Amino acid sequence: MPTIFKRIIDKEIPAQIVHEDELCLAFHDVAPQAPTHVLVIPKKELANLAAVSSEDQALLGHLLLIAKKVAEQLGLTNGYRTVINCGRDGGQSVDHLHIHVLGGRVLHWPPG
Ligand code: 5GP
Repeated sequence: MPTIFKRIIDKEIPAQIVHEDELCLAFHDVAPQAPTHVLVIPKKELANLAAVSSEDQALLGHLLLIAKKVAEQLGLTNGYRTVINCGRDGGQSVDHLHIHVLGGRVLHWPPG
């Protein structure tokens, strides 16, 4: 059973895509938690950060660089937050690795 993000990668369901290359996709979150809320996901099917290995080192670096690029592209000049939820206790709800990029307002710390 493919995850919802795999179905977005395969263009089976629509998303507001802001970046795509051979390794990853970035698109607006359907339930934004800030004025700007984008998800950066690898095209490779990795369940979460706990599932990656050293062979994914370059891919993980690429995802962070795209998160930065997308934040710039969307005008988050005052700053932004990147979040990777992992597993049940981490609050992960979609089992496909993703980086949240949140901005456009002051974000509080610590998270709940
Ligand atoms: P998680 O809770 O796993 O860290 O984050 C999953 C995110 O995916 C949530 O912020 C949720 O709103 C978003 N999401 C879930 N389903 C969809 C969808 O079909 N389209 C988009 N664009 N975002 C989704």
